[in-house]
Amino acid sequence: MQSVAEPSLKKDPHEVVRYAEVAVPLHVFQTFTYRLTGEQGVQAQAGARVLVPLGRSVVTGYIVNLSDEISEGLDDVEIKDAQELVDSAPVCTPEILELARWVAEYYACPLGEVIRAALPPGVSKATSQVKPKLRRVVRLLDVDSEQKLTEAQRRVITTLESNGPMLLQSLIAAASVSPSTITSLEKKGLVETYTEAVRRDPLSEDLGLKSEEHVLTTAQTSVLEQIEQQMNSETYAAFLLHGVTGSGKTEIYMRAMDKALKRGRSAMMLVPEIALTPVFSRGLRARFGDQVAIFHSSLQKGERFDEWTRVRNGVARVVIGTRSAVFAPVQNLGLIVVDEEHESSYRQQESPYYNARDVAIVRAQKESATVVLGSATPSLESFHNARKGKYQLLTLPERIAARPMATARIVDMRTVFARHAKPRVFSDELLEAIRETHERGEQSIILLNRRGYSSFILCRSCGETIQCPNCDVTLTYHRSERVIVCHYCNHREPVPRVCPACGKKYIYYVGEGTEQIEEMLKLLFPALRVARIDRDTTARRKVFEQSLADFSAGKIDTLVGTQMLAKGHDFPNVTLVGVVSVDAGLALPDFRSAERTFQLITQVAGRAGRGDRPGRVLIQTYHPYHYALRHACAQDYEGFFDEEVRYRQNHSYPPFVALASLLVHGPDLGRVRSDSLELRKHLDLANQDRKCRILGPAPAPLSRLKGEHRFQLLIKSRSRKNLREVADAAMKSVDINPRSINLEIDPVSIM
Ligand code: ADP
Ligand code: ZN
Repeated sequence: MQSVAEPSLKKDPHEVVRYAEVAVPLHVFQTFTYRLTGEQGVQAQAGARVLVPLGRSVVTGYIVNLSDEISEGLDDVEIKDAQELVDSAPVCTPEILELARWVAEYYACPLGEVIRAALPPGVSKATSQVKPKLRRVVRLLDVDSEQKLTEAQRRVITTLESNGPMLLQSLIAAASVSPSTITSLEKKGLVETYTEAVRRDPLSEDLGLKSEEHVLTTAQTSVLEQIEQQMNSETYAAFLLHGVTGSGKTEIYMRAMDKALKRGRSAMMLVPEIALTPVFSRGLRARFGDQVAIFHSSLQKGERFDEWTRVRNGVARVVIGTRSAVFAPVQNLGLIVVDEEHESSYRQQESPYYNARDVAIVRAQKESATVVLGSATPSLESFHNARKGKYQLLTLPERIAARPMATARIVDMRTVFARHAKPRVFSDELLEAIRETHERGEQSIILLNRRGYSSFILCRSCGETIQCPNCDVTLTYHRSERVIVCHYCNHREPVPRVCPACGKKYIYYVGEGTEQIEEMLKLLFPALRVARIDRDTTARRKVFEQSLADFSAGKIDTLVGTQMLAKGHDFPNVTLVGVVSVDAGLALPDFRSAERTFQLITQVAGRAGRGDRPGRVLIQTYHPYHYALRHACAQDYEGFFDEEVRYRQNHSYPPFVALASLLVHGPDLGRVRSDSLELRKHLDLANQDRKCRILGPAPAPLSRLKGEHRFQLLIKSRSRKNLREVADAAMKSVDINPRSINLEIDPVSIM
């Protein structure tokens, strides 16, 4: 390493001492300094993992800075030695480290937590490290030998001669020999065995899909040209692609990614939940071959590690993945696509609370890349940015092949109730539509955003509902498993025979879920082939993929499911989408409930009529005049935007103010309440010039969760800087464990 230096200047590596600033993957805001000596001091680089003593344990930390000198204010005798430098080549590239710093700063979260989130699970913690998967291979050595061989040994040689190098296991089987035969051949110097890393490939199972390339429409061509022109300049720019469902956005993403590759750069595409679109992932493989790396939540650790390694080594230059893929160590990034940019799943729901869409924008800025946000229903923030000129707006107002948009109609459940003098799950209109659709040999999708059988259990004698012991919610009845379940903490109990409160047996099930809808449809239409897709069935990835494949192949007539059905799928034979109820979504106490409902209906309507036959959508509701429903039925995005923006402005919600939410939580109600009042006091102290508006504390809409009580405070301000000053000052001065306060900057919901 020091070979060119003068001998007299040559340092004894044992004398090298360097000081590493280390971020640890815990919810602590400071970084720690450790000493690295000898060879480790020479080899250490920022972005490498290091095992360090912390309190009484040893943790995997990440070096974020290195120095030959001790920083001011620190005393050398108090500094501990790092236990072990794990990597000589950093796992976190300089670009990713810088991006992580930005995330930690913007979202006010610990840097170590961000780096942990940025690395695949098998890498972030060095002690439970995933290793490459190895296998033994045997090959023939190129030697002319007169050695005497046994019959078995000769079989091995001839097998290898005709097959080339073989897996040890296959060779043993093919030549029908024992392992010792191979060992003796190795000793004679006739064969060699070695290990080889095998790639764990998440797309290895071939479902027999192929990708088709289309001739672009005029509208697609014009959009693509604008993106490509921008990419030629190799500077940062952001586009918002507002294209109605079925307008061919995906084709544009593919072409733009291809363009990035042709320019020698790499490309990234973020999607909300890739596991739900196996067809799409495999289409990518068909298009980009082995250059694609894929990241999503249902990959196994080993698969994820291998994909990450392929990106890190530059073998894979197209990255497709969910949220955390935004941190993939791709080099020379030219393009980032964020599909369905409005989706709330881009937001991480635990610390670090980052939004991958916004991180994508910043990453593109830092790496001079083009970023394309795409959606049929852009988030209010993004469309607002486009109107202000921060993003360039591109539009695809029509569906491919001039296919008409599905016609959407509201079914007023109040009149259905009046007609039958009792509540009905299905209106006559929806039942009739399902029957007709089936008769025509077409398919339907029935959507209800509530899984399980019944949403709660009520005693008709005493009025008691069965609550989760840990959360402020009722338990949901799951009939197939014969249990009642909490959808928040997964607490499970057997179905009670009598009311736990009064002991009487007038147990009554209220509110239907997807499981019940599926069963009702099977009873009502015995000939209808019905399947269900929700989080209960998707737990098993293969089963889920099979259901989608069967639906696609026409082996299923009707698919019942939760909102996960609303996204991204392309089933040309679906001509009916029925929404059993949207009312629960509209009633959520959140400033985004109208926006979410509008998006859901527009997206689900986009699943109908994607083939040659027109589609229709029926939406059952008790609020037929709600503006979100009206505009969704009229397919009028801008009409909705204008109305929603007025509401946000009048009530001071984003994008007109910066918003932060502080959730104080803990097992003891009195303590949580007093802590939250204390926090309020410190916020007020920091806000004496009244540049922020502070609301609360109030019990959070979900006031108890997983055994913890929750109180919420909100900060609003026209100035993001003021907002952060107040939040930071209060968090610093208040004497509460930071672990019992969730501080969220730009929360996507305040539930
Ligand atoms: P979006 O993502 O905007 O909802 P898609 O990209 O899924 O729309 O396109 C809808 C359908 O149209 C898909 O089946 C796709 O393969 C097809 N498609 C896209 N572009 C073209 C084209 N130029 N010509 C013909 N079909 C196309
Ligand atoms: Zn619970």
